[in-house]
Amino acid sequence: MKLDKEEVVQRRVDLMAAEGITFKTKVNIGQDSEWTAEKLRKDFDAIVLCCGATLGRDLVTEGRDAKGIYLAMEFLTANTSYQLDHHFDGTIPALNAKGKDVVVIGGGDTGTDCVGTSLRHGCKSVIQLEIMPMPPMERAANNPWPEWPKVYKMDYGQEEAAALQGADPRQYLVNTKRFLKDEVGNLTGLEICNIEWVNDNGRFSPKEVEGSARVIPAQLVLLAMGFMGPEQEVVKQFELETDARSNVKADHGKFTTNLPGVFAAGDMRRGQSLVVWAINEGRGAARECDKYLMGVTNLP
Ligand SMILES: Cc1cc2nc3c(=O)[nH]c(=O)nc-3n(C[C@H](O)[C@H](O)[C@H](O)COP(=O)(O)OP(=O)(O)OC[C@H]3O[C@@H](n4cnc5c(N)ncnc54)[C@H](O)[C@@H]3O)c2cc1C
Repeated sequence: MKLDKEEVVQRRVDLMAAEGITFKTKVNIGQDSEWTAEKLRKDFDAIVLCCGATLGRDLVTEGRDAKGIYLAMEFLTANTSYQLDHHFDGTIPALNAKGKDVVVIGGGDTGTDCVGTSLRHGCKSVIQLEIMPMPPMERAANNPWPEWPKVYKMDYGQEEAAALQGADPRQYLVNTKRFLKDEVGNLTGLEICNIEWVNDNGRFSPKEVEGSARVIPAQLVLLAMGFMGPEQEVVKQFELETDARSNVKADHGKFTTNLPGVFAAGDMRRGQSLVVWAINEGRGAARECDKYLMGVTNLP
């Protein structure tokens, strides 16, 4: 999403191409009839699957069919792809936030990217809704150093929104009850409410705060509520075993799946994560793949 495509990504792709790697783009494994799992397994001695984990969590509620509601990745991918195709000429894709009241559902990093992208498109307003409470300003007692500090922070998207709109766009402890649409099916707003987390026999569940329901306007809603694992077509076609979170089952350090010669690495194996982990897993899978093919390996 944010990594410089020309100076960083393309440079690396060019280096690898010069080393002898063939890149084939516009190939959809699991869907293209020409590139089936069966053919790949027949034609190649080893396969490393790193298809990411971009299956977004949906919000199935009344009015979800309104025109103007998108999964975050539909919006972000369309934008990045358009910008690359148009060499950042200042124009924006057909799916854009210009002049719209935007509501981003989900207060995480992907939501931040939706906020930042909407602002750059020239949205009229942007709000980010989060169902969890606002994190504390300082570490809680059960979150000591050296654990990752779970504290309130402003990322670039919220900082840009605050600079333009005067405040952090996030609203915490808010749930969406339904989407509203006009007579031709266009999204016009959301009915939202405040919630509190109540302990229900050891399981916390959200409970609506009485009298807090209200309608907010929106012509664009972006769903950024986390990821459900890898797209399943590849997994199904290869008949790969998965873990409880639907990621491909393969141990870190070995990266071997239930199929001999088929490895899995990165988000597809560990779930939606970070670039540093993707690099670590890519290197590890290369080492294990080399060992599988050659019997020994010099790779670190
Ligand atoms: C919106 C967003 C923002 C992020 N921001 C950050 C950040 O700021 N910092 C950070 O460290 N991490 C960030 N991440 C996480 C980071 O992008 C991932 O952890 C990392 O890219 C995972 O690398 P990967 O190679 O495993 O998978 P990916 O980078 O997801 O790559 C998977 C590739 O496989 C291709 N593919 C998928 N299915 C098929 C198929 N069937 N056939 C052929 N090709 C296929 C995809 O097109 C893609 O090119 C972000 C993620 C998202 C979604």
